[in-house]
Amino acid sequence: RLEIKNLRRSYGGRQVVDDVSLQIMPGQVTCLLGPSGCGKSTTLRMIAGVEMQDSGTIHVDGKLICDTVFRVPPERREIGLMFQDFALFPHLSVADNVGFGLKTGTKAEKRARIELLLERVDLLRYIDGYPHQLSGGEQQRVALARALAPQPRIMLMDEPFSGLDNRLRDGIRDETLSILKEEDTAVLLVTHEPDEAMRMADEIALMRDGKIVQQGAPYNVYTRPLDRASVAFFSDAN
Ligand code: ATP
Ligand code: MG
Repeated sequence: RLEIKNLRRSYGGRQVVDDVSLQIMPGQVTCLLGPSGCGKSTTLRMIAGVEMQDSGTIHVDGKLICDTVFRVPPERREIGLMFQDFALFPHLSVADNVGFGLKTGTKAEKRARIELLLERVDLLRYIDGYPHQLSGGEQQRVALARALAPQPRIMLMDEPFSGLDNRLRDGIRDETLSILKEEDTAVLLVTHEPDEAMRMADEIALMRDGKIVQQGAPYNVYTRPLDRASVAFFSDAN
């Protein structure tokens, strides 16, 4: 369970993330949805620990991982990341890319986990290949397998499907969801596309100008927008 409270961050006097609070439960996908520049990625970077908040706290499973004085480093947060500008390690094989974050287990156990995940993303045949031999969509699926490999309790995804063509995207979205649900991961997914949020979210947190302006089940957020700006956001995006 991920809990963030009163998170704030400003750049050059501008409040980019303004008092954001969220709770994400295991097995649940929460979409942080909002227009470009509203502060979504900044929020995710603070949770990941690659950026420091000005104030506010972050707890994982009830344990404090970050406030303004105490800070667990990113690699010890047990948070999986899947970002837009994901990059595989070009010099490592597909198997070694997926196995990169696996710290525990015997060699055979690691190999089994890698095979299982590559099978789920339908790329087992490339297990001994290298990133440059794969298409963009295939690389993205390897990146997904890599992010899932260590079984993170929390998964942060920032527009993870944006580079894919429509036909591929639906399949990967569905497969991603089923793996994450099966592993009971708490997911925070950032997107600026209402369609994607409607398709994937259990809960939508609508963000604008650094604030969460509305939160609830997708159907409710979509059919009962709070104000004109929300109506405009939903209709512009379609
Ligand atoms: P998009 O949908 O386009 O990815 P976003 O909601 O993810 O947008 P952020 O990347 O969080 O938006 O950026 C929010 C605002 O903060 C933007 O106006 C951006 O220019 C500004 N910003 C982000 N990072 C920095 C930084 N390191 N220094 C200065 N300004 C920044
Ligand atoms: Mg962004």
